[in-house]
Amino acid sequence: MTSANLAHNLAATAQAHPDARAVILDDMVLTYADVEESVARLAGWLRAQGIDEGDRVALMLPNVPAFPVLYYATLRLGAVVVPMNPLFKKREIQFYLEDSGAKLLVAMPGDDAQAAAEATGTQLLTVGPEGLSSYVHGEEAVDPVEEIVARDGGDTAVILYTSGTTGRPKEAELTCDNLQTNQLATTETLLHLDEEDVVMGCLPLFHVFGMTCGMNTAFATGAALTMIPRFDPAKALQVIERDAVTVFEGVPTMYGAMLAAAALADTPPDLSTLRTAVSGGASLPLEVMKKFEDTFGATILEGYGLSETSPVASFNHPDAERKAGSIGIPIRGVEMKLAGPDGTDVDASDPDAVGEICIRGENIMKGYWNRPDATSEAIDDDGWFHSGDLARVDEDGYYFIVDRKKDMIIRGGLNIYPREIEELLYEHPAVAEAAVIGVPHDELGEEVAAYVVLAPDAEATEAELVEHVKSQVAPYKYPRTVTMIEELPKGATGKILKRELREG
Ligand code: AMP
Repeated sequence: MTSANLAHNLAATAQAHPDARAVILDDMVLTYADVEESVARLAGWLRAQGIDEGDRVALMLPNVPAFPVLYYATLRLGAVVVPMNPLFKKREIQFYLEDSGAKLLVAMPGDDAQAAAEATGTQLLTVGPEGLSSYVHGEEAVDPVEEIVARDGGDTAVILYTSGTTGRPKEAELTCDNLQTNQLATTETLLHLDEEDVVMGCLPLFHVFGMTCGMNTAFATGAALTMIPRFDPAKALQVIERDAVTVFEGVPTMYGAMLAAAALADTPPDLSTLRTAVSGGASLPLEVMKKFEDTFGATILEGYGLSETSPVASFNHPDAERKAGSIGIPIRGVEMKLAGPDGTDVDASDPDAVGEICIRGENIMKGYWNRPDATSEAIDDDGWFHSGDLARVDEDGYYFIVDRKKDMIIRGGLNIYPREIEELLYEHPAVAEAAVIGVPHDELGEEVAAYVVLAPDAEATEAELVEHVKSQVAPYKYPRTVTMIEELPKGATGKILKRELREG
């Protein structure tokens, strides 16, 4: 039996394509042979610090070459990676260190990481501007670890921070098999990657989307991963051209931001090398999809998933019909269905019936770390994971997200799905970004409120935008207020954070 350890993927790739580029960060290029050597060295260093099979290593780094090196070095020892957002402050770092029981924290130099490590008695490794060179060839270098610790498919490989579908933060435990099967299905049936490909690494690698669909797929196939430490639309356009990127993966706000940046560029960016563009993480507004495809001649394929599903659950497969506005069909090894509020299955032959997406398959997490109650709330006795997302399914089995359960607005007893209103706002030429939320209302329970970011140099009044929606929907649905803002609050991947809008 071969070990399920993901570290084997990198070792096999380094053997098959030693000179292929693994990681690009501007002028810095590491081949797969370089990365494999660094991983073996770092594994030696980690072992010398007492890191062993099953121990947790917290990785709090932006997208820099040290991220994949430490990720695979940790896995090589059979230890568990706990990725964390590098923007976390002391309180957050401390929570995750305590919660995960991490033995080591790896971070860029900074007071917060230092203070949290001290407060929790956790060892700290800081990765400075010189990267990991002192651990590979310099004064800290120790004998490399050549062997890869054998792991079972059900062993935990990564513990991921997630807000879960409800309540306080939870950490999703993803097994070796979860990550392997999702990486493999994504590579073989969706991205069709090989060593000629260049994948854009602008999604954070500490988030499951960038980790599985970007890093793990590239490292299993020999494709290059070109990194941007933090997403910047003008930089992303420049890197696509510079490195002849073939696969772009992003959240919808990235596509919108690249369109806005392209409109301001002196010469139109040439994205003709793009073979596949993938959107996930949030609903891709149809207008953004259309404008991007018209402007750059690239087709965007939308997929869907969660941290708890490693992440890909469904996708518009490249060799099947692409349905705009749909999250596609379940991927290989995954089943999906819709459940009603009482938990029973929704009649799938009724294209108007809305239900909660439930997912079952190889990609479903082992559970929430140390939270058996939360786990049994999320995964039922038949193994179905309840996503908290509402959808319809058409006669071809394509799923269409209606909205998140918790974002649905109930106004005077009537359900309103913000996404429908947001799509209409995006159709207005002056609108670059839109978010619709429910705000408390004494008589109606909730009232509809919209927040809008205007496109560069565009003008529109609030009344005009209200009218634009009002003329197209039933009277209970249109936003009673439209607030223009400079920027919408966004999370680590670029997803719009409605929670922050609601909290004011
Ligand atoms: P995360 O665990 O951070 O990956 O977030 C998962 C959530 O992102 C899901 O529960 C959905 O609400 C949302 N999501 C992911 N992909 C899509 C999509 N294509 N359309 C709409 N929402 C999505």
